[in-house]
Amino acid sequence: MQTAAATVAANFAAVKGMIAKAAAKAGRAANGVTLVAVSKTHGADAIRPLLTAGHRVFGENRVQEAMAKWPALKQEYPDIELHLIGPLQTNKVKDAVALFDVIQSVDREKLARALSDAFAKRGAACDCYIQVNTGAEPQKAGVLPADADAFIGLCRDELHLPVRGLMCIPPVDEEPALHFALLRKIADRNGLKNLSMGMSGDFEKAIAFGATHIRVGSAIFGGRA
Ligand SMILES: *Cc1c(COP(=O)(O)O)cnc(C)c1O
Repeated sequence: MQTAAATVAANFAAVKGMIAKAAAKAGRAANGVTLVAVSKTHGADAIRPLLTAGHRVFGENRVQEAMAKWPALKQEYPDIELHLIGPLQTNKVKDAVALFDVIQSVDREKLARALSDAFAKRGAACDCYIQVNTGAEPQKAGVLPADADAFIGLCRDELHLPVRGLMCIPPVDEEPALHFALLRKIADRNGLKNLSMGMSGDFEKAIAFGATHIRVGSAIFGGRA
């Protein structure tokens, strides 16, 4: 089911208002929080109201799906900044680095090496985030907290990836604040500035814990099929 354009525009305005409020409450500037509008499963019709409102930062979790809808929109709006927030298989790295501006899901050595090679071949790199599996969930992507420092070091110092920050997806059944605090601690001790954390249900809390990037889908675009 597609959410009507007017509803998407109203949801977007409401989320922007909530971000401003949460930032003010945390004593932070609202422009220190970047809204990554997660448009997965939604088509260009749902995305356009945000573009019309001047929004340019979007997130997708599948390379294949993003390749079907974003090249045309990026041609129309060259300042779009597209973030990959889902798992990246090494055989899709070439396509991903050609389309995305930011890869938030760098989560293993094999992928880090493939990205490093692809950036060298292109002569241009995407900003990278290291995904941390803060809940150590077996089914979830991301490096374990205990391995994070070494992995960040490998990516940054040996492979020369432009590592800008960390990303996490807390376990659904746990208090997210613990995970936000842990991600921030790992970022701080590694001198990383950006924290991608917080989704529709918990982005205000993530802002209180220092999120610089929140990834919000359903609160803007409605439910997914
Ligand atoms: C889908 C998704 C989101 C957005 O989730 P909502 O709850 O719809 O806001 C955020 N981050 C990742 C990694 C996702 O896959």
